Amino acid sequence: MIIEELLERLQGVRKTGHRRWLARCCAHCDENPSLSVSVGTGGQILLHCFAGCSVEEIASALGLDVADLFPEKLEFSKGRAPRFPAHEILMALADEIQIAALLLTRWSDPNRDWSAEDYDRLIVANARVQDGAALDEGATWLTI
Ligand SMILES: [Zn+2]
Repeated sequence: MIIEELLERLQGVRKTGHRRWLARCCAHCDENPSLSVSVGTGGQILLHCFAGCSVEEIASALGLDVADLFPEKLEFSKGRAPRFPAHEILMALADEIQIAALLLTRWSDPNRDWSAEDYDRLIVANARVQDGAALDEGATWLTI
């Protein structure tokens, strides 16, 4: 699935940056858009609901499987991790930093809840940024 097809299924879509949007989450009653949508470096669609809905719940509410969020085919040679152009690494880091920024914005707002899932996602973002900073042929998280 390409991002335009997904965006057509969402409501309240607002572009927030290059290959990044906010929309109403379709998996819960979402008055204030809390669904972060972006495109990963491998072409996969990244979804994060700040109210805590899982990717599986969001995909299901859209009539999709999680597998639909990935590009049709990733071509990498077997037995060898792919190398990534620097701009793709930077885009992936930018995705993670945006997620961290959104989470920290939420954390600093006394009127919004800070969930364990938010904290866990912030830890994942930090780990991915650290991995990206040391990216070499052994790094694999960019492939999924
Ligand atoms: Zn949600």
